[in-house]
Amino acid sequence: MRPSQLTSGIAAGRLDKDTLAENFSDLHAPFTAHEAAVEADRCYFCYDAPCMTACPTSIDIPMFIRQISAGMPEAAAKTIFDQNILGGMCARVCPTETLCEEVCVRETAEGEPVEIGRLQRFATDVAMATPQPFARAASTGKTVGVVGAGPAGLACAHRLAMHGHDVVIYDARPKGGGLNEYGIAAYKTVDGFAQAEVDWLMGIGGITLEAGTGLGAELSLDDLATKHDAVFLGLGLGGVRKLGLGLGATSAVDFIADLRQAADLTSLEVGRNVVVVGGGMTAVDAAVQSKLLGAENVTIVYRRGKDAMAASGFEQDLAAQKGVTIRHWAQPIGSTPDGMEFEYTTQGDNGLEGTGETFTLPADQVLAAIGQTLNPLDGLDHADGKITVKPGGATSRKGVWAGGDCASGGDDLTVTAVAEGRDAAEDIHNSLMEG
Ligand SMILES: Cc1cc2nc3c(=O)[nH]c(=O)nc-3n(C[C@H](O)[C@H](O)[C@H](O)COP(=O)(O)OP(=O)(O)OC[C@H]3O[C@@H](n4cnc5c(N)ncnc54)[C@H](O)[C@@H]3O)c2cc1C
Ligand code: SF4
Repeated sequence: MRPSQLTSGIAAGRLDKDTLAENFSDLHAPFTAHEAAVEADRCYFCYDAPCMTACPTSIDIPMFIRQISAGMPEAAAKTIFDQNILGGMCARVCPTETLCEEVCVRETAEGEPVEIGRLQRFATDVAMATPQPFARAASTGKTVGVVGAGPAGLACAHRLAMHGHDVVIYDARPKGGGLNEYGIAAYKTVDGFAQAEVDWLMGIGGITLEAGTGLGAELSLDDLATKHDAVFLGLGLGGVRKLGLGLGATSAVDFIADLRQAADLTSLEVGRNVVVVGGGMTAVDAAVQSKLLGAENVTIVYRRGKDAMAASGFEQDLAAQKGVTIRHWAQPIGSTPDGMEFEYTTQGDNGLEGTGETFTLPADQVLAAIGQTLNPLDGLDHADGKITVKPGGATSRKGVWAGGDCASGGDDLTVTAVAEGRDAAEDIHNSLMEG
């Protein structure tokens, strides 16, 4: 008999192919041209627009919305790509509710912002059906090694290629895209969009991707410094914090990567009772996707209150809407034959304290989403577990820059990684042209 949501333990194929396809379809349907025009007309085209200030890549939002309004989506997309070459992905994954849309004057006045993210997607989708609108400057004869083909590395590589430098991107994984390909929830980036975006971006020329080539394995920082005139590190955070306690937990990041790479979702195993420990975007994504795969009960357990969760209000609401239960103020302390044991927590004078009261949740599968880490790199200064960088991304080693999640400062978001990669490219370009 085919497994169902009620099958005990861990099982694949709890839902049929069609239900899974429906569950993992686009979270936000794209606008039609008419819908985009109507939505664009809601914009006040504010002077000193707060939405633009709130965007980490400083896209001229009123300008691109005006261009959509005028029936020029390609021009709107060019305005977006000038600042953010991964504007297509950011339109899908940015937590706009805590960035541009949070400060939109329509939000402050009426509680309903202009749907900037969906408008951005409309314009970039139109433009990405054609070759990209950027050309390379004359060759400078300089080469730059970029480690990591995630949003930071790709944005850096594209800007460097535009300035006429030759770029080699080295990535340890078999495919480019970083967490766009291996991390972002499947329903935010459907139909192979992450790979299509990498191909489109690299269409500028002058960028080579050496996949399956890892820094610390096939390459050292000294090798890169010898081969290239400059090096950019966009490594992301490769390590994950472990839950310990002998709970047999798997990493939520690995669970999601497997899901993103699965050719057939019916082959993916998921528990009947899934417990996810953590309070960020990864915890919500792992929980929601477990539910969509057919788990009967999915519970996120977070050790602090709702307001302290790194997952945005929108993400928390999405989890609730999909049937995930979120329990606050509890931490795992062990396992029993009945499942996983938690202790309630409280904020004491010296930090978080256990109250001594406990509860048990049935748990066939435990996913740990309690943070990612960076393995320190020899010869570079680090602070708070990240590579220390100056504004513009220069590290403590001459000729080496860093940006994105692996570098100090900024939120761990796709759009922030793009901004840091782009800005580092400008700094590298200035340095190479001076030298
Ligand atoms: C599960 C999950 C969901 C997320 N969802 C969202 C979301 O919805 N919206 C959002 O804005 N942000 C989201 N984020 C955060 C966002 O994905 C990251 O902030 C962003 O991808 C960081 O970009 P990056 O280029 O710095 O690093 P990454 O995207 O991590 O890319 C780093 C690249 O470096 C490569 N690499 C690592 N080590 C080496 C090495 N030694 N040698 C060579 N290559 C190496 C990796 O293979 C990878 O391709 C999510 C993160 C996770 C984990
Ligand atoms: S704040 Fe809102 S209304 Fe004003 S320019 Fe930005 S999107 Fe338009």
